[in-house]
Amino acid sequence: MNRKSEITRNLDEVKEKISVAADHEVVLIAVTKSFPASDVEILSELGIKNFGENRDAEGVEKSQVVAGTWHFQGQIQSNKLKSITSWASVIHSLDDLRHFELIEKYAPHPLSIFLQVSLDGAHHRGGAGIKDLYTLATAIENSSKHSLLGIMAVPPLSVPTLSAYEQLQQIHMDFKKEFPGAPALSAGMSGDYEMAISHGATHVRIGSSILGSRSPQR
Ligand SMILES: *Cc1c(COP(=O)(O)O)cnc(C)c1O
Repeated sequence: MNRKSEITRNLDEVKEKISVAADHEVVLIAVTKSFPASDVEILSELGIKNFGENRDAEGVEKSQVVAGTWHFQGQIQSNKLKSITSWASVIHSLDDLRHFELIEKYAPHPLSIFLQVSLDGAHHRGGAGIKDLYTLATAIENSSKHSLLGIMAVPPLSVPTLSAYEQLQQIHMDFKKEFPGAPALSAGMSGDYEMAISHGATHVRIGSSILGSRSPQR
């Protein structure tokens, strides 16, 4: 099978599963990290408009080849923010007020922002605790340039996925009460997107189910 038919088949399958799982609108972000720009072009031909990257250098390269809405979902490094904000229009992984201050300083265009929340208090996979989450949300809502879309999470490996999503759903409901203008939830990857959607995810970030497996370090 050639690459285009392979991606087409995978994408159809993912879209079908999303539509079965969802009773609300869900935005599909194709995570193209570690895959070549030629794959992004195929996805674009197939109607995908949202692309996600974890690394600045890959985002720089591929966003020059394929037009679309580019999402950054990787761990943020201060020294990369100037570049990241030049190609990304959505950031999923903000968890530090100092990073938002740099965004305000450098971003050449308005950004849409998800705040990453930590579900296990261990911050190695990124994410703010609840208190910091609310402080950050308030800071972004006070910005005249950038807008807050909602929250994002990656379920920790240390707890069963279902209980992580039950916890996330509760955090999300509480958050929406406090910030009704930011009701989106970015959650769900290849292994768990149906569960994420049934727990309220409005944005899913899917890579390997569409493009195949990546090399282990990615
Ligand atoms: C890599 C990655 C994804 C996509 O993961 P898949 O399992 O390939 O679907 C989604 N979100 C984040 C934060 C990632 O790092």
